[in-house]
Amino acid sequence: MNMETLTTIKEVRKAVAAARAGGRRIGFVPTMGDLHAGHIALVTAARQETDFVVVSVFVNPTQFGPGEDYERYARNLPKDAEMCMAAGVDVIFAPSVGEMYPDENLTWVDVAKLSEPLCGLSRPKHFRGVATVCAKLFNIVQPDTAFFGRKDAQQTIVIKRMVSDLNMPLKIIVCPTIRETDGLAMSSRNRYLGPQERQDATIIYAALKKCAASLADGLCDSQTLERDIRNTIGKTPSAQIEYIGIMDVQTLRPAGRISGETLVAVAVRIGSTRLIDNLIFDPSSGNLSL
Ligand code: AMP
Repeated sequence: MNMETLTTIKEVRKAVAAARAGGRRIGFVPTMGDLHAGHIALVTAARQETDFVVVSVFVNPTQFGPGEDYERYARNLPKDAEMCMAAGVDVIFAPSVGEMYPDENLTWVDVAKLSEPLCGLSRPKHFRGVATVCAKLFNIVQPDTAFFGRKDAQQTIVIKRMVSDLNMPLKIIVCPTIRETDGLAMSSRNRYLGPQERQDATIIYAALKKCAASLADGLCDSQTLERDIRNTIGKTPSAQIEYIGIMDVQTLRPAGRISGETLVAVAVRIGSTRLIDNLIFDPSSGNLSL
């Protein structure tokens, strides 16, 4: 069947209902568009796990703060549609802001505690916007499974908790971070980087890789790990560290010594572009994802 690009909630509900009536399991990949290989990896996972794949393309205004890049965020639906078609997507849902928020929004999903540290510090209403739009999209698409990228680790933790706390009937699958060949995590925001900044941005991956090696060597003092990351990134003058968080992956509380599964997350400004990246380490199994 050909891919459809739909813009109304009514059309999406109809297309999904027909697929479900045909016995197909529904996979869902929420995005803000300007798609790259990281997004397409989620589509590929969705195709493996489910039978009917819906991708949403929606730059959600409620997750941007004042002065952030909402207006500037790249919008290129024709190119996104081409990539989705090639990747075997069944439906793109590309609603207008008016379709998603026809009135002043009065109902918010606020995942307390998990939304507060890390990105929540500089983006206080960000995860409220993310959780709310995901709840709305889950209600519209009603997927069996939704796919998120580990690159936005705190987002996956917030969304999983929302799904669990609100008994939403879907499964969340988290897929690995897809990187450029020099290690920089793919992101729609990488296009803001000038050539020198793009080069400088590789320091983020370099610092995390070094941290991964220390963890694999058994270093478990988070202060030392944090200091090493700070020193590595600090060597690049255009890089300003916003945070380095070494946190328990369940609670997002700072981990003193690394004993359980741990998230090492960083946010760094390269010039005026804010980039995030992370690794997750489980000392009991030695598993490390970066
Ligand atoms: P965005 O369009 O940036 O909101 O991202 C939509 C989804 O794609 C989210 O689940 C992101 O975590 C995921 N994603 C973005 N970049 C990457 C990447 N480099 N690797 C894996 N997933 C990604």
